[in-house]
Amino acid sequence: MATGSIRVQTENIFPVIKKFLYSDHEIFIRELVSNAVDATKKLKTLAGVGEFNGPVDDLKIEVVLDAKKKTISIIDQGIGMTEEEVDKYLNQVAFSSAEEFLEKYKGQSEANVIGHFGLGFYSSFMVGERVEVITKSYKDTPAVRWECDGSPNYTLEETNERVERGTEIRMHVAPDSEEFLDKWRLQGILEKFCKFLPVPIYLVDVNEEKEE
Ligand code: ADP
Ligand code: MG
Repeated sequence: MATGSIRVQTENIFPVIKKFLYSDHEIFIRELVSNAVDATKKLKTLAGVGEFNGPVDDLKIEVVLDAKKKTISIIDQGIGMTEEEVDKYLNQVAFSSAEEFLEKYKGQSEANVIGHFGLGFYSSFMVGERVEVITKSYKDTPAVRWECDGSPNYTLEETNERVERGTEIRMHVAPDSEEFLDKWRLQGILEKFCKFLPVPIYLVDVNEEKEE
C-alpha cells in the first residue's frame, strides 16, 4: 500500500471546494457522470482503432444509491485507470493558489468555475466526507483502490474488490449532504444535468432491490 499527500502547488484545495462552491453542490453528479461518459467514449474510440477487442455496444453507467450505508457510487465500464494513471490524474491537482482562483472567477457561477479548473473529480468531496475510487484499466493491470478523507492525504493500493474493467467513484456522504441520499432528489438531478448523453445512465437503489 502507498500513502502520500495530494500534490497541490500552494494551498489545500478542499476548503475552497467545500466553502466557496457551497451553493451548487448538486453539480457533483454532472461532473462525475461526465467523467464516466468520457471514459466510456475513450474505450469505444480504442475499439474503433483496434486497440481494444472486447464488446463496446452495451456499455452503461450506473448511479448506485445505498441510503443505509450512506453511499452514492458512479460506476462505469470505460477505460479505467492503472495505478500510475490514478497517481497522475487524481493525486496532482494543477492549482496555483486559492486566492488567484477566487479572484479570477469571482462573480461567475460555481458550476462553471469547477469545470474550468479541471477540478471535476474533486467535486465528489462537496458531498463525500470520504471518497473511494476503485478502478481497473482495460490494460491488463491489477485493480487499484484510492481513498481520501478530504484531507490532502490519500491511500493507493492494489485491490481484488473489482474484477471488471471500469471505474467506481464511491462517496461516503457527509452528514450535511444527506439530502442526496434521497432517491427522488438524485433522480431529479440526473434529469436536470444528465439528459441526452451518449451512454445510458441508470439509477439503482440497492435497498429497494433487496426489499422486493
Ligand atoms: P477533466 O475531466 O477535466 O480532465 P477531472 O477532474 O474531472 O478533470 O478528471 C481528471 C482526470 O481523471 C480525467 O481527465 C481522467 O483522466 C481521470 N478520470 C476521472 N474519472 C475517471 C473515470 N471514471 N474513468 C477513467 N478516468 C477517469
Ligand atoms: Mg471531468
